[in-house]
Amino acid sequence: MLFDLLERLTSLTRVWFREHPLLADIQPIQLSALLYLARCNGYSNTPLAVAEYLGLTKGTVSQSLKALEAKGLLSKSQDARDKRSVHLLLTDEARNLLASVMPPAFLETAAGRMGGQAGELEQLLGDLLRNVQRATDVPSFGLCKTCRFHRQVAGEPFCGLTEEPLARPAIELICREHQFPEASQEQGQ
Ligand code: SF4
Repeated sequence: MLFDLLERLTSLTRVWFREHPLLADIQPIQLSALLYLARCNGYSNTPLAVAEYLGLTKGTVSQSLKALEAKGLLSKSQDARDKRSVHLLLTDEARNLLASVMPPAFLETAAGRMGGQAGELEQLLGDLLRNVQRATDVPSFGLCKTCRFHRQVAGEPFCGLTEEPLARPAIELICREHQFPEASQEQGQ
């Protein structure tokens, strides 16, 4: 059954992270916050967005963010336009840590043994996730380049929602404002 398979893989991943010597001082929720912040764009690196992504309350997440800051893995930066808004930035130490543990070696090895089937599986799991998100009205947190607001202006990426230019690398990041194109639009593409 699909659920059993996903649940088992999730458990194995949790165990692998818990037993990793470099992650001995990092709680699972702290690691999840770091992984999210490594993948999200500059509109999405706020404490509220972290809480939304993880499906937790802002209060619960804020304790973890404080702990990460105390460990030197996160720093805070005030928004240039909205002084009440704070952005969370990974430190070099955090980026080096994530580079050392991601992707989990056990998963890479197993996927390597599957050869081309691993790519097909990744595609299918992506389809599954999109189907779940479309049916449940939860934020998609999808890749910027797949968003219905994504545009090209003078050959450069541009956000049609915020009406701001986007840095090229940012189109590969996830965003809390992401929306999938309408089904009719997708069929016409
Ligand atoms: S185009 Fe969409 S995903 Fe990209 S920054 Fe704008 S709202 Fe976010």
